[in-house]
Amino acid sequence: MTMSIDERATDGQATGRHAVDAATDEEFRAILRNFLATHSPGPRPRDPAARVEWTRAWQNILYDHGYAGPSFPREVGGMDLPFSRQVIYREELARARVPGPLGTGLGIVAPTIVRYGTEEQKQNWLRPMLRGDQVWCQGYSEPDAGSDLQALRTTARREGDEYVVNGQKVWTTRGEQADVLFCLVRTGTQESRQNGITYLIIDAHAPGVTIRPLRDLTGGTAFAEVFFDDVRVPVTNRLGEENGGWALVRTSLGHERAAGAMEQAAAYRRVLSELVALARERGLTADPGVRARLSDFEIRVRLMRYNAEQVINDILARGEPGPGSSASRLLITAFEQDLHEFAVDMLGPDGIVTKPSEQAVQRGRWLAGFLSTRASTIGAGTAEIQRNTIAEQVLRLPHDPAMPPR
Ligand SMILES: Cc1cc2nc3c(=O)[nH]c(=O)nc-3n(C[C@H](O)[C@H](O)[C@H](O)COP(=O)(O)OP(=O)(O)OC[C@H]3O[C@@H](n4cnc5c(N)ncnc54)[C@H](O)[C@@H]3O)c2cc1C
Repeated sequence: MTMSIDERATDGQATGRHAVDAATDEEFRAILRNFLATHSPGPRPRDPAARVEWTRAWQNILYDHGYAGPSFPREVGGMDLPFSRQVIYREELARARVPGPLGTGLGIVAPTIVRYGTEEQKQNWLRPMLRGDQVWCQGYSEPDAGSDLQALRTTARREGDEYVVNGQKVWTTRGEQADVLFCLVRTGTQESRQNGITYLIIDAHAPGVTIRPLRDLTGGTAFAEVFFDDVRVPVTNRLGEENGGWALVRTSLGHERAAGAMEQAAAYRRVLSELVALARERGLTADPGVRARLSDFEIRVRLMRYNAEQVINDILARGEPGPGSSASRLLITAFEQDLHEFAVDMLGPDGIVTKPSEQAVQRGRWLAGFLSTRASTIGAGTAEIQRNTIAEQVLRLPHDPAMPPR
């Protein structure tokens, strides 16, 4: 699919003007809302495989109508929206309850490719990712390299115009669906730490790649482990310089921590309203303890929104989210854990009844949220690592002696 945004804009005009042509923010919101209502993908399928196809079909629709990639340049199929419209875009998509992107590429490696990729790489990689034709997944963590990512051991040996990759990655979100893996590999010695790391884009279907799903505590297989056994990767798939991958990782990690901040703030605005409605329905809002907790969540959900605005602003001003994205990540992840924990407590014994039981409150959604958000303060860097980043890079406190020098 190689339509330009202007052709796609014309295509999208079956229902009137395209939102990118709107004269005011209000008009932008109205056109976008109308588009989302007209093209809504309908309810989320229960079957996981059907859900993947449902999500992919939605990404196709967004792209083909010129509504994908609000922050991406138009030359690669994005919308290149100004600040106020990026905020509206994210709010409206959360309000419409449409699916988010497949894989983790759009929020992490795509901004890195926009910043550091060659023209050819941008043209080849960004459009299929934006359209959902390819699912991109992150291969950074290894069994002995998580918080201390610079300890990674997966090697890439140069042979002519190719690298030969051997090693193992773990906790690869959506790895089962991966078409492409964006990886950090070791091209220098183990002792070279961050100076011997290269950023490599690897075809997940290449010979020698084995992907095994991992079952988590919700019963799902959101993660996978990935094994590389003499996998041949063209040198043209290297992002940035050989041994120069670490400089790019800061951009990727910043975007990973910032990713979806506004969507999550908007989504949790709705979820909190639903929790308040549930408390009312069960006659619990007269309880001062319940009221105090709900008020606290109300304050925090508003802070999340302001913080998300700050993140978008930083990206537009500096090209990167910067260390402030750690504060955003910390706020959101602590909030979602606390909220679900409180909801389960508030429901008393009913809180631990889950589907398929008829007695499950709202199909057990609060318990499911309680279980799935246990991992939130680990993914994209643990809460301790986010606190370290805020302490050192925002507050300028001394460097953590337990960590290698920066
Ligand atoms: C939901 C989720 C999704 C993920 N998705 C991906 C993915 O798609 N791709 C990928 O590559 N990885 C992914 N990960 C892996 C994630 O990045 C790592 O789990 C994380 O970086 C922590 O590494 P670790 O598990 O090895 O724990 P460790 O680094 O071993 O940490 C163990 C404990 O020690 C603490 N600790 C470590 N160092 C310090 C320090 N200096 N100061 C204070 N405390 C410290 C940690 O906070 C933690 O409590 C995901 C993880 C989760 C939970």
